[in-house]
Amino acid sequence: MNAPDASAMDAGAIVTNQFDVAADLINMPDHLRRILRTPFRSLTVEVPVRMDDGRFEVYRGYRIQHNGARGPCKGGIRYHPEADEHEVLGLATTMTWKTSLLEIPFGGAKGGVQVNARNLSLRELEAVTRTFTSRIAIILGPYRDIPAPDMGTNAQVMAWLLDEFSKRNGYTPAIVTGKPVSLGGSLGREEATGRGVMYAMQEYARDFKIPFEKGGTCVVQGFGNVGAHFARLAHAEGAKIIATSDVDGGIYNPKGLDIPKLFAHAYEQRKSVAEFPDGERITNEQLWELECDWLVPAALGGVICKESNANRIRCKVVVEAANAPTTPTAEKILEERGIVVLPDFLVNAGGVVVSYFEWVQNLQQHFWTHEYVNDELLKKMKRAYVSVRDMVKERNVSWRTAALAIAMGRVAEAEHLRGY
Ligand code: NAD
Repeated sequence: MNAPDASAMDAGAIVTNQFDVAADLINMPDHLRRILRTPFRSLTVEVPVRMDDGRFEVYRGYRIQHNGARGPCKGGIRYHPEADEHEVLGLATTMTWKTSLLEIPFGGAKGGVQVNARNLSLRELEAVTRTFTSRIAIILGPYRDIPAPDMGTNAQVMAWLLDEFSKRNGYTPAIVTGKPVSLGGSLGREEATGRGVMYAMQEYARDFKIPFEKGGTCVVQGFGNVGAHFARLAHAEGAKIIATSDVDGGIYNPKGLDIPKLFAHAYEQRKSVAEFPDGERITNEQLWELECDWLVPAALGGVICKESNANRIRCKVVVEAANAPTTPTAEKILEERGIVVLPDFLVNAGGVVVSYFEWVQNLQQHFWTHEYVNDELLKKMKRAYVSVRDMVKERNVSWRTAALAIAMGRVAEAEHLRGY
């Protein structure tokens, strides 16, 4: 399939486009391609909510289960004005590949509500969450489908989801991951995606001699759960975060930003990154053009594209901490320019890996230490990284194609063994 206009591609289109390249590489039979392109189950719901001023808003919500051949469906819930059915399906599909690549016994799902969470009061956010949960509860369950946080949602939102589900079904902590620790969440879950991104980069840095710990320079778009924790942990290991941004703009300091102070300012106190005093203000467009070793998109999908920035990016490696940040056309341009792209469903898998650990702990009613969680995460990330690296070498393909071929091969085998 030819790539459509790159700038017009959303996460859904990006994921579909990458599918055929990998399916061809492993000679996937046509009927399995058709099964894996189609969601197992897709639910659209209305989410009516009484706002603080007395009016009713009716939002649209989705829960899409892409595939459950390898285990219960697993995937986050996103609150974002552009979270439509197409995007949610793309993200659900990515979850199937991610859980397969990391060898955890889950399938893939995703949920979304088309709402700007930043414009909601805390009470309105809770009302959206409880109504959405009650409307999708019919397809959830610890052995059916287990949500988690994503953009615009957090541990508090997962706590309301757990409470709403438990009202009808009895206390069921394994129904959702990314919960607060005091409600059965796992130690290390909040930082897990950022930590996993860092582990993948450390492996790559060692193999391909790119500086990381000793002052390797990183530019990070997005300073939310993934970006802020990645920056904090990478800074603590000796990497230099020279620029970062949020939705309102960014800051740049070639000597390296004071990340512990920025973490307190922007992540803990929720102030805007651009208001941080220690650094030069930059726009999100300028951020892409900064020279660095590692460029880490950790916000939205489709942000690296042919029309806006693929020709102007000046890094050695793009690390896809966000889901689907690079369009296929942009990836080709980057490849031709000698810039490697480490794909999302490998590098940002730390969150779902520790979500799996959380689910295991909930089912066993036995809790792990933070160190044990981190050690087990490192083992999982390393194993997946090595399998992809070796396939890149053996088959001379991109990191994304190698990772997809491994992941899709496992799902196709599970479908085949089920009788398809
Ligand atoms: P978040 O809501 O906590 O943070 C998102 C950040 O991106 C915020 O700083 C926000 O201001 C910024 N942002 C939003 N729009 C922007 C724009 N137009 N330009 C620049 N910055 C912008 O979300 P998150 O959980 O950190 O997720 C970030 C990305 O990582 C998403 O693509 C998500 O799907 C992916 N992801 C998250 C997890 C997880 O565990 N949270 C796991 C895997 C992948």
